Amino acid sequence: NRVDNPYDGAQVYVNPEWSAKAAAEPGGDRIANQPTGVWLDRIAAINGVNGGMGLRDHLDEALRQKGSGELVVQLVIYNLPGRDCAALASNGELGPTEIGTYKTDYIDPIKAILADPKYASLRIVTTVEIDSLPNLVTNTGSRPTATPQCDVMKANGNYVKGVGYALNKLGDVPNVYNYVDAAHHGWIGWDDNFGPSADVFKQAATAEGATVSDVHGFITNTANYSALKEEHFSIDDQVEGKSVRESKWVDWNRYVDELSFTQAFRQKLVSVGFDANIGMLIDTSRNGWGGTARPTGPGARTSVDAYVNGGRYDRRIHIGNWCNQSGAGLGERPQASPEPGIDAYVWMKPPGESDGSSKAIPNDEGKGFDRMCDPTYTGNPRNGNNMSGALPDAPISGHWFSAQFQELMKNAYPPL
Ligand code: BGC
Repeated sequence: NRVDNPYDGAQVYVNPEWSAKAAAEPGGDRIANQPTGVWLDRIAAINGVNGGMGLRDHLDEALRQKGSGELVVQLVIYNLPGRDCAALASNGELGPTEIGTYKTDYIDPIKAILADPKYASLRIVTTVEIDSLPNLVTNTGSRPTATPQCDVMKANGNYVKGVGYALNKLGDVPNVYNYVDAAHHGWIGWDDNFGPSADVFKQAATAEGATVSDVHGFITNTANYSALKEEHFSIDDQVEGKSVRESKWVDWNRYVDELSFTQAFRQKLVSVGFDANIGMLIDTSRNGWGGTARPTGPGARTSVDAYVNGGRYDRRIHIGNWCNQSGAGLGERPQASPEPGIDAYVWMKPPGESDGSSKAIPNDEGKGFDRMCDPTYTGNPRNGNNMSGALPDAPISGHWFSAQFQELMKNAYPPL
């Protein structure tokens, strides 16, 4: 008896740990009461890391916040074997072959807690395995963007099996709403990636006992920076006889923003066999692109590049840049049913938590050092060999990054 859109008519859980960090920042009280995702990013997070809140603590607090109304609690399932195969910053604790541990020590205990009747009145949204399955399409085989680690994960099938297992087990809990991570337009908006990614999602959603009924929807733009709407140019525009698709920025993508991509991808997913009622979430935590650099009108019609670059809100150097982006701002505040096909805008990535360290920092979380987080790095094939655009002096991924939090507030759009 799941509802069609769990966000409709419901409050969303405010994570007290994130809220306290936000409130401790100058000006942070303006957003400290916003709901953000609770990331179960390692096995220890289930019981709480270093005395912090564990899953039961969050659910107990969620019951308290809920009162007599409805409440959504947003969990991020994020611990696949061989995690983050095309990058290093969020490599995890499980090696590529540790699918057994993933099942027994991670998914099973989470499922057991979520299935406790005590929590039956909560609407539990689980976003499943960020940045995983599309890697099997875009970063493998003969692609210039391939990595050996993604080739391994494709060959051993453990991303597909892990996601299938998670969907099947979590989907057995009647008040759990599974949303599979579906990347963003600057990753799978190209024709070569769009359909094949939908096919891999279908494959995972029918692996390890899962069925498409275990999937309530998909989430896009998680922890990414792609603009929600580009209002000063559209995919159909022509300049000097050339399509905007030929501009360097768009580079033949079919989509110029996250909303148009997410709505179109929803249709594609339905066409490959997902339920006609699936709903989409868009992570708008860091895609605001406000502040003084925000264009107020279209670029000059002297060339497609001038036109697109002059008008685009997304100020990244290249759309493949993903780490602690300079100039980014908070995006749309979390809200239910903002657009057709979209269940909610959400802040799944908690603003102020780093994407990765700017330098190598020893740690016991399995996190590597990815030079995409180093502002002096000149890039790789996955960002068209451009500068990384990352802020300096960042801590390892998931750790509090005050300077980024301040920048996100400064460049918020809508402004705070
Ligand atoms: C990190 C996680 C963290 C999450 C949310 C990811 O990049 O790898 O450890 O929980 O971001 O900040």
